[in-house]
Amino acid sequence: MRTHPLLRPVVALLATWASLSAAPAESWRAGAAREEITPPAGLWMTGYAVRTRPAEGTAQPLWVKALALADPAGNRGVLLTLDLCGISREISDRVAAEIGRRHGLPRSAVMTNVSHTHCSPAMPGIITGLRILPPDGEQKSAAYVRALEEKMIRAADAALAALAPATLAWAEDEAHFGYNRRENPATDVPGQRAAGKLKGPFDPRVPVLAVRTTDGALKALLVSYACHNTTLQFYQWHGDYAGSAQVELEKRHPGATVLFAAGCGADANPAPRGTVELADQHGRALADAADRALAKPMTPIAGRFASALEDITLNFARRPTEEQLRTAREKEQPNKEMHQAWAAAVTEKFRSHGDAALRHTYPIQAWKLGALSWVALGGEVVVDYTFRLRHELGENLWVFGYSTDVMAYIPSERVLKEGRYEGDTSMVPYGQPSAWAPGLEEAIIGKTRELVTRTRSPK
Ligand SMILES: [Zn+2]
Repeated sequence: MRTHPLLRPVVALLATWASLSAAPAESWRAGAAREEITPPAGLWMTGYAVRTRPAEGTAQPLWVKALALADPAGNRGVLLTLDLCGISREISDRVAAEIGRRHGLPRSAVMTNVSHTHCSPAMPGIITGLRILPPDGEQKSAAYVRALEEKMIRAADAALAALAPATLAWAEDEAHFGYNRRENPATDVPGQRAAGKLKGPFDPRVPVLAVRTTDGALKALLVSYACHNTTLQFYQWHGDYAGSAQVELEKRHPGATVLFAAGCGADANPAPRGTVELADQHGRALADAADRALAKPMTPIAGRFASALEDITLNFARRPTEEQLRTAREKEQPNKEMHQAWAAAVTEKFRSHGDAALRHTYPIQAWKLGALSWVALGGEVVVDYTFRLRHELGENLWVFGYSTDVMAYIPSERVLKEGRYEGDTSMVPYGQPSAWAPGLEEAIIGKTRELVTRTRSPK
């Protein structure tokens, strides 16, 4: 068709307007992007109390990766996955607010999830009872977070700018290098595993979302697994098995952006542990599971996108006594510096917040992608939540932990009663006053059920 020369600018303007407006597309659209977030050597690491000096170098780069999705009606969401141990509510909220401001997205449409690698930097306000950083350590760590937030926003910007027609489909397979660490002493695992006699609940499922271009090329791959990302414990930055799985899958699928989202594996460990070779071995096992899922008839995603994020209040059981705080400060005991850091963190929390320090605002997020639902829970969530939520709400539901705010372990009522690390003593490195008060499981399940049901119901 010929256009009169005088009308050409008008036609061009109309074309621009049509592409910018939320005109319904034929299909879903997707875009992916990444930014490297490896800190320099010299920052303190997080995850383990036993480390006595800062990081010495990089064994594997750390990344933030962004996956932007848009349904045919133009409803968009951005998932940010990070090779980090934890994330604070402040970081997640600041980043989501800026992305929302730039792109017109509601808070619930931005999801943040960390892989829980322990070979990543200490960050202000996260796992505050682990150690008291020296002043220069504090400064470096605060500077790291400022740069991190800019990179998260940049990755989201790029992923949203790259939105292009795509097909989405999902499937699941299994990987078995994880096990329930509360029920099996690590030394027993090889024998018990070989005999098929590992004890305790464990979720071997590997959910996989494949994003393909309209000509069938793999553009992005999201892989999840519910197991501590803790093969390694050295003085180098590394994404651990989740990082190795991403590297391996990106090698096998050139051009694809591979993201890892941590599931509810707070009571699961990988085995065996200790070397980069083992992290790579587990990474390959996870990559193999993802490739098996990709080879299956996958369930295509049609329909619309919806999101919700709401908070509930969780209560800590009790305020520590002066005697407990003094003991933590003065007693000669293993990891003495951790107990001193806990006393300092808790004392500061009650000084600045009063009795409000006995409550925590806990985030629960739900996404609907056609007939598939995602739930993103804060904290280190034990596997009981996944089994219960999928039993109650259907198997077309993926449950991520380590999302939005990693403030503590989140035991089920069963694990809370049993106590030990995940139910009780992990509150020391997390700098929290005490174990959670009973009732958290019902509160979390109840709100999750409400959000999943609401996002699933047609408007
Ligand atoms: Zn952990």
